[in-house]
Amino acid sequence: MPASAPITQDVMTFPRKLPDGPPNLVGMTRDAMREALIAVGTPEKQAKMRVGQIWQWIYHWGVRDFAQMTNLAKDYRTMLAEQFVIEVPEVMTRQVSDDGTRKYLVRIAGGHEVEVVYIPETDRGTLCISSQVGCTLTCSFCHTGTQKLVRNLTAGEIIGQVMIARDDLGEWPVPGAPKDETRLLSNIVLMGMGEPLYNFENVRDAMKIAMDPHGIQLSRRRITLSTSGVVPEIARTAQEIGCQLAISFHATTDEVRDKLVPINKRWDIAELLDALRSYPKVSNSERITFEYVMLDGVNDTDEDARRLIKLIDGIPAKINLIPFNEWPGAPYKRSSNNRIRTFADIIYKAGYASPIRTPRGEDIMAACGQLKSATERARKSRAQIAQEAGL
Ligand code: SAH
Ligand code: SF4
Repeated sequence: MPASAPITQDVMTFPRKLPDGPPNLVGMTRDAMREALIAVGTPEKQAKMRVGQIWQWIYHWGVRDFAQMTNLAKDYRTMLAEQFVIEVPEVMTRQVSDDGTRKYLVRIAGGHEVEVVYIPETDRGTLCISSQVGCTLTCSFCHTGTQKLVRNLTAGEIIGQVMIARDDLGEWPVPGAPKDETRLLSNIVLMGMGEPLYNFENVRDAMKIAMDPHGIQLSRRRITLSTSGVVPEIARTAQEIGCQLAISFHATTDEVRDKLVPINKRWDIAELLDALRSYPKVSNSERITFEYVMLDGVNDTDEDARRLIKLIDGIPAKINLIPFNEWPGAPYKRSSNNRIRTFADIIYKAGYASPIRTPRGEDIMAACGQLKSATERARKSRAQIAQEAGL
């Protein structure tokens, strides 16, 4: 692609409310739900209270059947069941890795599929969720970027991934049972398929639902949004979501970053760093995670490590080094363990945490950048990927 080519957002945007059938309550903001209830005859004075009750059934107790909402009058429940649905995406397959990682293939409206990954650790459990089917960006090391078919997920489909995982983990509270403080699903990362900042409103609404104190109740400090660098939306993320931010940085010169993360041609390293400088203050978050995929002979020299330190000077940061996860046809190799350790050491000595991410669920293709929907069979050829990467 010539350097001047604009990066277009060629997304088949999907209406937020699905066209057929009654509206889904899952994914509506509190305001939207209030309006929807009034539209079907709920008296305005009662609407806020009804939202509170229904909200708690859906997001605190995990109830999907209006009949179980026992603090609502029977007639009202019948009316709700006629006018609305409570729907989450359908789980098509569930794979469990040797290391306990679970990968779900879920089907959303239109027959599209996305992948969701649950990663258990000793002190936490992280759910990696998707925001789009495929991705319009074509990072040359990423499997998702080779997928042609793209559509934005609705807010319901995004929060629905969290609800499905809670179903599978058996994590909805049981009435009367003592409250269990250790949560199996304690963290969310928007690091699955898609560029979350190209689907801003739906991602925001879904994360607001995840954070709501009367429902799933995850702190904004336990939610991390990863972006390849959609600069204009970074300030909005701080203001309107306030979650933790991770940046797919991956290179220390524009020349290399242009090839690895082509959105860099639109907003280069300098513009990206400018946007990042104000993020922690506005969002009141501690530090930004810089993700850095280790590609043999491409971005992994000592000089790269030193340049990286200079670039991020003044930004509260943690550098997450990701050993490259290979996929069929990938035009890169993973850096050697020694190289990764030396690189990490240089960064660590400069005063930054530099953890090396252990690949999880590799045996089920659940590791970072390996996700790709099974419905999308038209795969770009190895030659095409290499050509687009400028190799
Ligand atoms: N689109 C967003 C979020 C999804 S990707 C983004 O790019 O940030 C989540 C992380 O996995 C990103 O840092 C991405 O660069 C990284 N990644 C993609 N492909 C990878 C691969 N094959 N090996 C290791 N990490 C990869
Ligand atoms: Fe899209 Fe992120 Fe993959 Fe790039 S790394 S192609 S932005 S999912």
